[in-house]
Amino acid sequence: MAKIDIRIIPVTPLQQNTSLIWDSETKEGVFVDPGGETDRLMETAKQFGVTVKKIWLTHGHLDHAGAAHEIRERTGALIEGPHKDDQWLLDDIEAQGQKYGISGLRNVVPDRYLEEGDQLTLGDMVFDVTHCPGHTPGHVVIYQKEGQMAFVGDVLFKGSIGRTDFPRGNHQQLLDAIVQNLWPLGPDMRFVPGHGPMSTFGAERQTNAFVADHILKAGA
Ligand SMILES: [Zn+2]
Ligand SMILES: [Zn+2]
Repeated sequence: MAKIDIRIIPVTPLQQNTSLIWDSETKEGVFVDPGGETDRLMETAKQFGVTVKKIWLTHGHLDHAGAAHEIRERTGALIEGPHKDDQWLLDDIEAQGQKYGISGLRNVVPDRYLEEGDQLTLGDMVFDVTHCPGHTPGHVVIYQKEGQMAFVGDVLFKGSIGRTDFPRGNHQQLLDAIVQNLWPLGPDMRFVPGHGPMSTFGAERQTNAFVADHILKAGA
């Protein structure tokens, strides 16, 4: 099986994690959630000799999707994700960028929307998709079973979960998505969150302030 390499690059004043993942043999790669600072992201790809073939978006917020359009223009990469229910956010990136004072971000229409159960490929590696609404209605989580690695965007963080006080956020929906869609993937699944350090689903089930097993049980 191909060996996967990964670098995590925090971008924008919102310190969002953009991941560059690539096949170490073919050097073909994917940006997951390129939120801004296109020049710096492209420089990182160049540094590792990676040809960017695809861009995967977990959800429509500007800090995760703001550089997707420009990277597609420069590389011809295909944009896959998020779910179509986040298009209203992808249409609002430029306006939100002005509001947050972040320049250079662009609205974007993906080449492919993702649905529950869809699969993504990078060379001969297969990634699976699960739809996890709550933080945004069209949020997806992308994971690879063999590599035990998930890209969860703003669904789950080390110690916390995504905000649901934005328009069309839904706290209960988010909790349900985490318990029903993520926990079954197993405790050893490592995840790269949209912000902050990595963790595993197992660690969060023990210690997360919102979705640890003992906390959900107490609230049930
Ligand atoms: Zn977000
Ligand atoms: Zn975010």
